[in-house]
Amino acid sequence: MSDQPLSIPGKTDSATLLVGLDIGGTKTAVLIVDQQLQPRAHLIMPTETADPDRLLGGIVRAVSLALEQAAPARRAEPIAGIGVGVPGQVYPATGEVRQAVNLNLVTYPLGPALSAAFNAPCLLENDARAAAMGAYQQAQQSAPVRHLAYLTIGTGIAAGLVLDGRLYRGAHGMAGEIGHILMEPDGARCNCGARGCLEALAAGPAIARLAAQMMPQQRGQPLTAATVYQAAAHGDPAAQRVTQRVSHYLSRAIQWLIMSYDVERVVLGGGVARAGDAFLQPILQALAGLRAQSALAEAMLPDEKVALLPPGYDAGVWGAIWLARQAAHPANQ
Ligand SMILES: [Zn+2]
Repeated sequence: MSDQPLSIPGKTDSATLLVGLDIGGTKTAVLIVDQQLQPRAHLIMPTETADPDRLLGGIVRAVSLALEQAAPARRAEPIAGIGVGVPGQVYPATGEVRQAVNLNLVTYPLGPALSAAFNAPCLLENDARAAAMGAYQQAQQSAPVRHLAYLTIGTGIAAGLVLDGRLYRGAHGMAGEIGHILMEPDGARCNCGARGCLEALAAGPAIARLAAQMMPQQRGQPLTAATVYQAAAHGDPAAQRVTQRVSHYLSRAIQWLIMSYDVERVVLGGGVARAGDAFLQPILQALAGLRAQSALAEAMLPDEKVALLPPGYDAGVWGAIWLARQAAHPANQ
């Protein structure tokens, strides 16, 4: 299977805009940049997941609205490329999305549909993989690396790998599905059907569930990952026990990524990681515990390898812009 994006013959160099789309189960982010990567429009809209037609209609409306914002003089500028990060399995050669359960899609040719709607080449990627490229691009601006893993912790857990500067997809575009590695044989039931997956123990819903068990004095109040990390940062011992438990699992996922791929950096992102330092510190403590156990871990797991995505940086939509550039200039891949 070729990784070449769908291309529309006859596009000229006059096309200037790049469109990046990060389609999530609840929200879709659209970013439009010019050829110098200067943002021209950025908006976030609810994702319509009732059926594929409404999903496509909502995305087309969001992009059209962003295009109007990008060209205030009402002078429509042609689109050079569209990049899309989408939660599901993606086939770049056909532009199909499969098994995107959060979007209510079994198999859908989203790439050709967007290409036809905007007369521009379109390239799709799984959202965690696209965000890994966004995190990689951001890393190049501060402390450049060639080998990076991006670990996203939100409603689910997944990773994306950039190895030797290139996005690593694996044989089926599934490289990085770390949310479903087994952590506890008798652990909580996961959405995938198995028990004790990392995602079932350390993603946002799992943290809320754990907090409901371990923070009984909070009973009756809505507990989310964000409120648990906030309480832990304010010294609540029960909340700290929850974040320590979660960090125990996440530190092992980080160890697994570093040991398997010898990456120079693991960047942490996603909704749960937005708790910032309150999220990072217990993970660093757990890594220190791993280092104390072995000389190999001591050598391989220094704190410097683990970083939070900078606040305010949207790796998903910037990864989609990177895809849009690949769609516009496939020779540069
Ligand atoms: Zn699972």
